[in-house]
Amino acid sequence: MSAQSSLTVSSTHPPLTFAGVLSGASSAAAPRRLPLREHQMVHGVPLPAKKAHRHLDDAVAVLQHGVVKGRGGANFPFAIKLESTAGARGNPLVVVNAAEGEPASAKDLGLLLLAPHLVLDGAITSARLLKCKEIVVWLHHGSPALASLEAAIGERRSDSDVTIRIAQAPDRFVSGQVTSVVQGLSGGTALPYSLRFQPSIKGVKGRPTLVSNAETYALVALTLQHREAAHGRLLTTVMNTDGQRHIVETVKGTPVSSVLSAAGVDATGAPLLVGGYAGSWITSDQIQHATADDFVLRDPAVRLGVALFAVADPQWCPVVVTAQIASWLAGQSAGQCGPCTFGLPAIADALSRLAKSRPATTDRANLDRWLPLVRGRGACAHPDGTAGLVASLLVAYGTHLNDHAAGKGCHRGAATAWPALRSAISGVRSR
Ligand code: SF4
Repeated sequence: MSAQSSLTVSSTHPPLTFAGVLSGASSAAAPRRLPLREHQMVHGVPLPAKKAHRHLDDAVAVLQHGVVKGRGGANFPFAIKLESTAGARGNPLVVVNAAEGEPASAKDLGLLLLAPHLVLDGAITSARLLKCKEIVVWLHHGSPALASLEAAIGERRSDSDVTIRIAQAPDRFVSGQVTSVVQGLSGGTALPYSLRFQPSIKGVKGRPTLVSNAETYALVALTLQHREAAHGRLLTTVMNTDGQRHIVETVKGTPVSSVLSAAGVDATGAPLLVGGYAGSWITSDQIQHATADDFVLRDPAVRLGVALFAVADPQWCPVVVTAQIASWLAGQSAGQCGPCTFGLPAIADALSRLAKSRPATTDRANLDRWLPLVRGRGACAHPDGTAGLVASLLVAYGTHLNDHAAGKGCHRGAATAWPALRSAISGVRSR
């Protein structure tokens, strides 16, 4: 099954991001790529270069009013990056980061397959505001979105004041980290590094570089074109137990239960993994209080992250599933920072022994001790995410984890969870 046909798209509200792709708020629809002519009938055309040069301040004000923040998980205000890049010395570069590291997330993939012109509109407008002549789209090597993106770029002949090229990233979890992108495009290995300068000041080959993810550029285009109607627009990925992924367009503050319903997913009695594999568990009882917002339970510990809602089978043991994810995440470390290189495998190994109900006597206590020690100690946020996932297990399923620590048998299955995780563990990406 192709990546495109395995994705479904729906919306909890009348669609805007997927207007033209979806005819109305619907439970599901067969997706199709919106050609340029139809895209322009729905979304208009970006500011022409001459006009854009004079409108940076206006655009910054509109983006600030619309609270446009990075949608790759970092949640950083886009207008600040734009202003910073505009104020830096040198020849600027605009980079669209479409290398989603999260194996289960399908938002950027869906955008590039179905609405690539919205992403390009945001990038082209940003480039024109910065008087920048070059855009690079950073995409995982072998991405199923490549053909769609190339076709869309081929349709943008009228935007010849800006050159758009595609660069393919290694297929690793950390390839989508902003410093990996900068390093990879500068000719080095695409791995994270400690920031001395923000990329907006000194990025790719020392140039002021505006880097944001694909969904953020789509939101920039929507906000500049549609103003108030775009406020709070958000894409989420809902993944069912069978690995089927649904992209749901929604508006911030919408109940998570409505997002799951729009995807046609029944989460009754199911644990829910929120925010990505390096996200947080919430219990089935908590789902009814959860909203698609920066803090999903009004609790800073449960963040929206990459806006993934992965529904677990109630028959899966959350300790076993978390151990599998933690082992995979530990294996994704770039091996550059001690707490990440040594701390994450130690945590994952302790959790794996606990999952088998054959722990060492110190394993349970060590989890409590080690989690705070790895947080905030890496050059990137990779250890924080992994520690946050395990910490959420302690909160949501602490009693069950303690049963494992006590060597009590677990009646729930030890089957490997979602196919996307299975593929990731075996080294084969599902995308
Ligand atoms: S924290 Fe981990 S993944 Fe991030 S740079 Fe350091 S070693 Fe690499």
